[in-house]
Amino acid sequence: MLKNKTAIVTGGTRGIGLAIVRKYLENGANVVITGSRQETVEQALEKLQEYQGRTMGIWPDLCNPQEVAEAFSSVRERFGSLDILANNAGISSRTSIYEYTLEEFSKILDINLKAVFVCSQAAARIMKEQGRGVIINTSSMVGEYGQAAGCGYPATKFAVNGLTKSLARELAGDGIRVNAVAPGVTKTDMVAALPKEMVDRISAGIPLGRVGEPEDVANAFLYLASDSADYVTGVVLRVDGAAMV
Ligand code: NAD
Repeated sequence: MLKNKTAIVTGGTRGIGLAIVRKYLENGANVVITGSRQETVEQALEKLQEYQGRTMGIWPDLCNPQEVAEAFSSVRERFGSLDILANNAGISSRTSIYEYTLEEFSKILDINLKAVFVCSQAAARIMKEQGRGVIINTSSMVGEYGQAAGCGYPATKFAVNGLTKSLARELAGDGIRVNAVAPGVTKTDMVAALPKEMVDRISAGIPLGRVGEPEDVANAFLYLASDSADYVTGVVLRVDGAAMV
């Protein structure tokens, strides 16, 4: 579905990001992984050796426009185009409002929101020249409902939805589609570390009866990146088994 396309997946070293990376590679794309450290990016690339020649690692500070622009240009130089940006990198929070420091609040805004802006801007500049491109952001089910702790996290995801819908309108004329995927509870390292009884309890509250797998989310990223979604822009696609918080 993605033959001859080049994708950048931020936070592609593990969890949902790594599932997107694998899905894109399986579907023929060249895939560039970003991570917070060179070491973790290189470790992730080692797991993908069967795709050698179609992978690349970069590790710019995602909040630094110049570093990101240079890294994204190097991707175009290596593969000839930049067709897909999956803004996946993110951190979560469960901190109470009474304990929240401004420093912690700023940190989550930086990686979950500012980085999405910086990466989208750098990618859009390249995609505009090409006359085509797709940007897919990672929201969350709590970006619709909020959550009862760690208010900075849902605040960033509400903002990501706003950025998605606005950029979809702003960039449509340049041939760039912008969408978001909003996962529910998904079995990454964090969820896998929870006691089985807790996961069973969460699953029982989800109409489809289970928590999501990273691949469930990656399938949505594949659809939105593909030409099958050519007429789809400005949507926030829930992948949560119809869960409600
Ligand atoms: P994870 O912790 O397993 O992976 C996060 C990724 O982001 C890692 O690759 C990490 O290196 C990268 N990252 C974190 N801080 C970074 C920084 N400062 N610079 C560059 N990269 C950085 O998390 P995950 O569960 O796979 O989550 C991925 C995305 O999905 C996040 O945006 C998260 O908010 C969203 N999400 C996850 C769930 C869930 O249940 N797992 C639910 C809804 C939304």
